[in-house]
Parts: sequence; structure tokens; C-alpha cells
Amino acid sequence: MMHWSLRRQSSWVQLAGHQGNFQLSEGGEVLKLYSVVEANCLDYLMRDPLRPFVPEYHGKVTRGEHCYICLEDLLSGLRKPVIMDCKMGIRTYQEEELVKARTKATLRSDMYQKMLKIEPMALSAEEHAQRGVTKLRYLQWRDANSSTSTLGFRIEGIMVRAMASKSLQNSCYPKWPVYLTSFIPWKISNKAYYSRLLALNDALTNSPFFRNHEVIGSSLLFVHDNTSKASVWMIDFGKTTPVPDTSKLQHNVPWAEGNREDGYLIGLTSLINSLSQAISV
Ligand code: ATP
Ligand code: MG
Ligand code: MG
Repeated sequence: MMHWSLRRQSSWVQLAGHQGNFQLSEGGEVLKLYSVVEANCLDYLMRDPLRPFVPEYHGKVTRGEHCYICLEDLLSGLRKPVIMDCKMGIRTYQEEELVKARTKATLRSDMYQKMLKIEPMALSAEEHAQRGVTKLRYLQWRDANSSTSTLGFRIEGIMVRAMASKSLQNSCYPKWPVYLTSFIPWKISNKAYYSRLLALNDALTNSPFFRNHEVIGSSLLFVHDNTSKASVWMIDFGKTTPVPDTSKLQHNVPWAEGNREDGYLIGLTSLINSLSQAISV
């Protein structure tokens, strides 16, 4: 999904997520529809070693009837930016969604239609008869059907030269390294990305936030332009929740219901390895 700002020189692009959830402020910041879960994370992150990897958080603002979180625009200052959104982790649904789905299994016809379009064979006879699937069934299918469950991340969207690749979401996530190569044609960006990811890895190791948060559905946003500017940012904390004080997460072990592990570091390692192969740094 894309929005081009007509009011500003810089181009605001939204690669993923719900289209109605974002606005631009007059000052050039990005306004995302408020969620207390995400606001709590951003408050914490502004005091954590991860701060340099997260857009600057300017607090809660109200516009008309809605509240928003006010974020630094990560595309600001880039000319014709090239962007990639990688959703991190080995699963993209929370444990509480599992519990809810067991007690209240509402059938979603829109999600049934999406599955029908992409992989009709995955649907059971019962699901065809109901013409609906639960949200959890859909999310689990998407994880299994993408590199999420194997590599610990998936590409949600890529935008190169103002062409957003929506086909990614509608295909069965074919070989993702092809996308990675098409996204990063310049060696200079590769090196910048590689060292930024290594620095992120270090910061995650030292981060109290990361030790005690289950990070679900969060993305790494890769952005570069045709100068030497290239960076990677952590975004989207709407499903990132604290774990009890007593448990510390490892982020690099398999998930079993109850352990709340998200596999974030499995995804980061996959990305680092493939970048290092692509550029033989
Ligand atoms: P999801 O469906 O993944 O839960 P969401 O509604 O929570 O999406 P985000 O993932 O936070 O939304 O953001 C959607 C897109 O908006 C990103 O892929 C990116 O293109 C853009 N975006 C988000 N935050 C920023 C930012 N601070 N600066 C620039 N672009 C941003
Ligand atoms: Mg997102
Ligand atoms: Mg989100």
C-alpha cells in the first residue's frame, strides 16, 4: 500500500499495515493510530540501548477524534527511497490469540477468500463448506507458507523506484533471496546494512527491553537511496508485550506454547548470513 504526500518534498510510503492507520503531521512526523501496547514499548525503548535503532518517539497526539503515536519519519532526507519491510520472528501471532481462538472461533470469510486465491488446496472440505476460517488458522497458514517458520522472517513488501511489490503478498513467497538481491543492487548499501545489522545484534544482547519482551509481528525496515545513505530500523510494536519478571527470553530457540519465544534472533541471523553471502564482506 502506498501514499504519496502531495504536501511535502519527501515521499511518504507505507509498505504494509492498515491503510487508514497512518497520517503525516504538519511537522513531517509519522502519525500512527494509537495503541497503548505500542506506546508503552516506545516509552521503554527511548530509555534502552535499542534507542538508536528505533524511530524517535514524540509521544501521543490527538487529531480530530483519534489519538496517534508521533514518530520520526524514517524516510526523511532520502531521495527516491528504496524500502523493504521484513516481518521478524518464527510466528506472527501471540499466544493469547491462540487462547482466544480456542474459546471464540469467529469465522472470517475475507481470510478464507485470501487463502482460496493463493492456495485453495490448503483448505479443508469443512472450511470450504463454511466459506470461512478463523483468524488464527489464517495467520498460522501464512507463517507456514512463508519463510517465517523456517528462516524467522518474511518480506512483507518491497518498494523500488516507486513500484511497490504487492505481488509478494499474493504469491506463495517464492525464493526470497531473489527479492533480497533485487532490493539491494548497490554494494555500498549492502555493507551499510551488514554493519548496521551487526550493531543491532550487539544492542539486542545488551537490551533489558529485548530480554523481557515477546516481540511479535514487529519489522525491520530497510531504507536506502542512491547516495550512500542506508539504514535499518525496528518498527511496529503493536503486538510486543512484556513477559513476567521471572522469565527471560532467549529469542533464538524454537517456540512451544507457553514459553513465549518469538525467534527474533533466528530471523536476524538468517538476514545477516544472507547479506554476508551476497556481498562476501
Ligand atoms: P501490520 O499490518 O504489519 O501490523 P501496522 O499497521 O502495525 O502494520 P507498521 O508495520 O508500523 O503498521 O507500518 C506499516 C508501514 O508504514 C511500514 O512497512 C513502513 O513502510 C511505514 N512506516 C511505519 N513507521 C514508519 C516511520 N516511522 N517512518 C517511515 N515509514 C514508516
Ligand atoms: Mg507492520
Ligand atoms: Mg503492526
